[in-house]
Amino acid sequence: MDCKTCAFFNGSDSECRRYAPQPAEGEKKASWPTVAADDWCGEYQADAEKAKESA
Ligand code: SF4
Repeated sequence: MDCKTCAFFNGSDSECRRYAPQPAEGEKKASWPTVAADDWCGEYQADAEKAKESA
């Protein structure tokens, strides 16, 4: 279980897209949070295609 095999992981920018982008404090532009490919959280949902690619 890790971000790189999660349905919400955008691998090209290493972003989590589980929720809509949010502006960081002091920033005007909203963005998705950056996550490490080997990280994880409780919102994880397996993506079978990504799991095959990372195997
Ligand atoms: S495991 Fe959590 S933090 Fe990682 S991509 Fe999935 S929803 Fe985002």
